[in-house]
Amino acid sequence: MPITVSIPTPLRSFTAGQDTIELDGDTVGQVLDELLTTHAGLKRHLLQDDGRLRSFVNLYLNETDIRQLSSTATPVRPGDVLTIVPSIAGGSPTLGTEPSLSHAEVLRYSRHLLLPEVGLAGQRKLKAARVLTIGAGGLGSPLSLYLAAAGVGTIGIVDFDVVDLTNLQRQIVHGTADLGRLKLESAEARLNDVNPNVRIEKHETRLTAENALEILGEYDIVVDGTDNFATRYLVNDACVLLGKPNVYGSIFRFEGQASVFYAKEGPCYRCLYAEPPPPGLVPSCAEGGVLGVLPGIIGSIQALETIKWIIGAGDSLVGRLLLFDALKLRFRELQLRKDPGCPICGEQPTIHELIDYEAFCGIGAEPAYAGPEISAEELRREMDQKGPDLVLIDVREPHEWDIAHIEGARLIPLGQLPERLGELDGHAEIVTHCHHGVRSMKALALLKGAGFGRVRSLAGGIDAWADRIEVGMPRY
Ligand SMILES: [Zn+2]
Repeated sequence: MPITVSIPTPLRSFTAGQDTIELDGDTVGQVLDELLTTHAGLKRHLLQDDGRLRSFVNLYLNETDIRQLSSTATPVRPGDVLTIVPSIAGGSPTLGTEPSLSHAEVLRYSRHLLLPEVGLAGQRKLKAARVLTIGAGGLGSPLSLYLAAAGVGTIGIVDFDVVDLTNLQRQIVHGTADLGRLKLESAEARLNDVNPNVRIEKHETRLTAENALEILGEYDIVVDGTDNFATRYLVNDACVLLGKPNVYGSIFRFEGQASVFYAKEGPCYRCLYAEPPPPGLVPSCAEGGVLGVLPGIIGSIQALETIKWIIGAGDSLVGRLLLFDALKLRFRELQLRKDPGCPICGEQPTIHELIDYEAFCGIGAEPAYAGPEISAEELRREMDQKGPDLVLIDVREPHEWDIAHIEGARLIPLGQLPERLGELDGHAEIVTHCHHGVRSMKALALLKGAGFGRVRSLAGGIDAWADRIEVGMPRY
């Protein structure tokens, strides 16, 4: 029986969609070599230039991190499962004298009060608790709704965004009537309708190294519903420095992760992922998509862990990483251990204050894909003048093409472009386009690098075209 390697969703484009691959080998290293020989495209995602494993990729043999075993020299046996876990773009709080409940509250929380694990004492702890949720989006919606319904006394929300139509497929705290409204206002109205006893504290700001300690410091528990690495590391570090639990959740396409990071008792996010992936390597939900119900499941797990923490019931996710695969409907659990070398919660920490997280995550230092652009209006004019002499290449994916495409464009998805350069005339005048103008700029750089001299990228992508030229074309 061979070894099974489990491939996460973001890497399946390099394995022809396969989620597991059966391979032979005597050690983790040998299995990995075999995998990279048969699927060479995975190499740059898993290994650094010097051949070592990238630090934002974790490998688990069955349920144990190979760093806790003998790393790549760990022997494997037939039937073992090797899981690749890449980073994917939240004790009981000390409470004073808990407030009492009114008769109306007793009735409202009756189904809680009937549970001995909650009871009157637990419900009063919930009423006294102060929980901060970072973000009122996909994860923030279900978790704030359940926290409010459960009677958490004070819910702080950090957000500065407004509700737009693409949010409503999953951000269930907002409704159609809220379009264009601040998410904070919309969430407050909905949560107060769910439970008028709950106090909503609105923080209309982007969380930064300058304000994080002050904002997080006012709460007992922090629930991380962010969608970007810079904020995730910021929330982690601030929680470690303040000694607060961080209820973590993240989602991508059909997969989710959840854990509770609490450095006083277990690992933190940096123990799991020492550093973030370089910008652009892991697509965001805005680029890669996400199934609408998925944040409902992961956000509910975060709400559950928060409530358990407050009432002190059950076993928390401290020291465990929960992985959820929605398509297979399968939960898996991996043991996490504190990394003694962790730069913030390890034995000799090197981080003692908050840092510049945008720089840490490489934001602003991305390879500059600058190049000549063409506006939608100019493209329309030139297409009319030049006809087929102007080659328009759509580098989006086929399922995006099916939603809408520009008449006369040719579909060559960005991932296929390197192999399909031969189909293009090196002297032709080319315009690349995608959804918003980011991928088309990468395509432009690729074409320039291959010697194509006359290439421009459509500024704003097909979205700008649909907005200003072909009004009536569906936007997404
Ligand atoms: Zn740590």
